[in-house]
Amino acid sequence: MKVLLVDDTKTERLIISSYLEKMGHSVVVAENGKQAVSLYHSEKPDLVLMDVIMPEMDGHEAARQMRHDENLWVPIIFLSGRVEPDDIFAGIEAGGDDYLTKPVDFRILEAKMISMTRIAKMRRRLINVSTELEVVNSELKKLANVDGLTGLANRRYLDKYLRVEIARSIRNGHQLAVILCDVDHFKKYNDSFGHLKGDDCLKVVAKGLQSVCKRAPDLVARYGGEEFAVVLPDTSLEDAGQLAQAMCDAVSALKFEHPESEHKVVTISMGVYSDEPEKSHDSEFMLKMADDALYIAKDTGRNKIHLS
Ligand code: GH3
Ligand code: MG
Ligand code: MG
Repeated sequence: MKVLLVDDTKTERLIISSYLEKMGHSVVVAENGKQAVSLYHSEKPDLVLMDVIMPEMDGHEAARQMRHDENLWVPIIFLSGRVEPDDIFAGIEAGGDDYLTKPVDFRILEAKMISMTRIAKMRRRLINVSTELEVVNSELKKLANVDGLTGLANRRYLDKYLRVEIARSIRNGHQLAVILCDVDHFKKYNDSFGHLKGDDCLKVVAKGLQSVCKRAPDLVARYGGEEFAVVLPDTSLEDAGQLAQAMCDAVSALKFEHPESEHKVVTISMGVYSDEPEKSHDSEFMLKMADDALYIAKDTGRNKIHLS
């Protein structure tokens, strides 16, 4: 263990340090409470052994300051010749955890160090577990927003994002564009090549769409099945239409073989909607407008875009 030993008397420091080092612990020394508080933060010891009466800052005040940091907890044992019940009470109340009577008896110190080593081990284990938990939690958070197949944002994230962007557009008076995109004759694609090849195709289409949308606030999401949605903040219908056409061209340029399609390659159709959202326009409304436009794109030939 790394022990922070705090005592204003040099001989006490030397005697106790040599005891601790004999037991195999490493020792950092401080001469008063002020130094101790600073070393407590910089050295991150496993245990503090601290005298009570010292110049500049006494042990009780130093313990109080150490306990300010709620994220850092290390056992504090007071070393003192004053062991009246009230002294012990005041020490524990200031943030200490135990008391050792001066002059320190080697055998008692040895016993306390065994028990403190156990606590330090448990504490380290707890810190490791909570760090691992934090990592797992942040991974889970990410996964909750990501579509497993394509790696794009999922429907859940799309809904959240669209709500936020609608509110922002209302505040700023900016236009907001939403595009819905659907792979043409995808059922026939699956029928021709199987579901697994269909999955591969969706992954590549997703990459194709994403490669066109490069602005940071643009979001490409998997809407469900073979459908994708694109949110383009601060974008006019004309600009969104140009982007949609670029996505359409990017997908057909992939030249994914599709014998059952009139174009002989995988294509997509897109419905584009853009507006200055009013307070009554929620995400459902915007998606419905884009979906109506998509229906017209499908109905009038596929492999095309339709502006709402
Ligand atoms: P349209 O041009 O009118 O959009 O025709 P379509 O065949 O693409 O549309 P339909 O809605 O009839 O069929 C969609 C197909 O997409 C059916 C479904 O099996 C397939 N599909 C949906 N999700 C997935 C998926 O995750 N992987 C694969 N491989 N296929 C999927
Ligand atoms: Mg569909
Ligand atoms: Mg389709």
